[in-house]
Amino acid sequence: MENKVNYGANFPNSIVSIQFSFIVLLIVLGFMSCNTSTSPKKTLNPNFSFGLIADCQYCNVIGEGQRKYSQSDEKLQACVEHFNTMDLSWVIHLGDFIDKDWESFDVVEPIYRQLTMPGYHVLGNHDFLVADSLKGFVPKRLGLPSSYYHFVTKGWRFIILDGNDISFHAYPKESQAYKAAESYYADNQMTSAIWNGAIGMQQMIWLEETFQMAKEKDEQVILFCHFPVFPDNPHNLWNATEVINLIEKYPHVKAYINGHNHDGNYAQKNGVHYLTMKGMVDTEESSYGILSIEEDRLILTGIGREEDRVLEITK
Ligand SMILES: [Zn+2]
Repeated sequence: MENKVNYGANFPNSIVSIQFSFIVLLIVLGFMSCNTSTSPKKTLNPNFSFGLIADCQYCNVIGEGQRKYSQSDEKLQACVEHFNTMDLSWVIHLGDFIDKDWESFDVVEPIYRQLTMPGYHVLGNHDFLVADSLKGFVPKRLGLPSSYYHFVTKGWRFIILDGNDISFHAYPKESQAYKAAESYYADNQMTSAIWNGAIGMQQMIWLEETFQMAKEKDEQVILFCHFPVFPDNPHNLWNATEVINLIEKYPHVKAYINGHNHDGNYAQKNGVHYLTMKGMVDTEESSYGILSIEEDRLILTGIGREEDRVLEITK
C-alpha cells in the first residue's frame, strides 16, 4: 500500500498529478476497506541456482600428496561443461584459482570464460603467488574492477570480500601495504598463520554500508570470501571475530561461503550458515557444487567429493 502512495507522490507536481494521486488514494482506501479480513499476499523469491567452485589451484606441476595441481585444468573444463547444461544464474570461484605463476591464469581463465552464464571470482592467497611486479594486476586478470564488490540476484545481495586486504602475499615486499601487514600482525599479536589475511578497516566500513543498503531494500545477504571465519580453524581470517560480530548485527545475513580449507567444513551460529567448500585441486576426483535458493532454505547439491546439504533459513 505504502509503495503505491509513494509512487503517486513521485509524479510531476501538477494539478493533474494531485488529482490522480487523490483518485489512487481513494482506490487504495476502498481496496483496504474491502480486504480487512485477508492479509496482503507475501511476495516469494523465485527460485534460482548458482555454481560454486573452490580452490581450482591450477599450475603445471604434478604435485605431491593429494594436491593434483596439473589435473585442475581438466577438472575445471569438465565442471564448466557440466554447469553449461544447467539453468544457473551465475557461477563463482571462491579463490586460489591458480597455485602459482602468472602463466597459470592463461590456462584456466579461458576455460572459465567458456561458461554460458556470468563467472565471478573471489581473490585467494595463491592468486598472488606471481612476480611482485604483477601482484597489482591480479584482480584485473580475473576480470574484477575491484577486489571486493557486490551484486544482486532476485532479492538476494551477494557480497564478495577480499581477505587478502591486509596480508603478506598480495603486495610487493618493499611496499607500504606489506609493511602495514607486518605492523598489523605484530600489533595484534596474531597467532593465525601468515598465509591467511584480514579485512581492512576501509573494507569493514564498506561492508557495513552494504549491509545497511541491503537492509533498506529488504534484501537477504550471502557473503563470499576465500578465507573462513567460523568455526574456529587454522585457516580463518586474522580478524574473523570482528567480521562475525558485524555479521551478527544484521539478521538479514544468512550465509558466509568460502574455500581455502580444502577439507571443507560447516557450522551454524546465530542463524548464519558458515560453509567451506572442498578444494577442487585435491585428489583425482573433482569437487564443486550447486546452491539453490528457496524461500526458506538453501540446498547444496555436491558433485564429486562435495557433500549435499539442506540449510534452513531462519527468519
Ligand atoms: Zn587459500
